[in-house]
Amino acid sequence: MFDAEIDRSEFVPSCAAESGPSVKKVAEAKLPTEFGMFRIIGYRSLTSDEEFVVLARGEFSTDRPTLARVHSQCLTGDVFGSTKCECGQQLRAAMKLIAKEGRGAIVYQQQEGRGIGILNKIRAYALQDEGADTIEANQRLGLEVDLRQYDQCAEILRDLGIRRVRLMSNNPEKLEALERCGLEISERVALKVKFNKNFARYLRTKREEMGHLINFPDELYGPNQNPDLQTV
Ligand SMILES: [Zn+2]
Repeated sequence: MFDAEIDRSEFVPSCAAESGPSVKKVAEAKLPTEFGMFRIIGYRSLTSDEEFVVLARGEFSTDRPTLARVHSQCLTGDVFGSTKCECGQQLRAAMKLIAKEGRGAIVYQQQEGRGIGILNKIRAYALQDEGADTIEANQRLGLEVDLRQYDQCAEILRDLGIRRVRLMSNNPEKLEALERCGLEISERVALKVKFNKNFARYLRTKREEMGHLINFPDELYGPNQNPDLQTV
C-alpha cells in the first residue's frame, strides 16, 4: 500500500558505483536532430541487460556546471506524442535548452513506465480509462509505483566528465540519487511544458503523492509566482 508518510530513508541504497564501474561505453556517433547536431553515445550495464543512450552536446569539464537530464523512456509520450503525460514535451524542452546553451547531456534510461514495461503500462492505462489514477492502477495490477534506479545514470554522467550538474528534473528521487553518486547539483532547472488538461490529474498525483516539484497554473492551484507549467 502506498503511504505518503512512510519513512523511506532506510530503503535508500548507497551508490552502486562505489564498488567499481558498473557501466561501459560501447559506441559514439554524430546525430543530427531538429534541434541541431548532438553526439549519441551508447552505454551498457555490466550488471544487467540494461542499455543506455546519451545525447550530448559540447565539451564537459569537471568544474563547470553542466545542463543534464536523466530521462526515463516513455514510448507513448516520447514517440507517439501522447498527452497523458508530459514526458515527450520534457525531452524536447531539454534538447532545446541544451541546443541553446551549446552544452549538456541527456541520459536516456530504457525503463518504460517507471520500470513496469510497456505492456503493463498499457494495462495500467486501461484501468485509468475506468477512473483509477497512476498509483491506484499500478497497485491494482500488483506492480510497484516506481521501480527505477538512477545510480548507473549518475555513473554515466561522471564517466562523461560531468561533476557539477544543472539538473533538468522535477523528481526529488533523481536529485538524491545523483548526489549520492558523487554529483553536485548546482541548480534545478525547470522544464517548461504546455499545460494539457489530459495530464492534469497525472501531474497532480505525481506532485501530491510522489513528491515531484511541480507548480500548476492558476486555474488549478491558485496564484503561483513561478509556474513550471504554462497554459496553452
Ligand atoms: Zn510519459
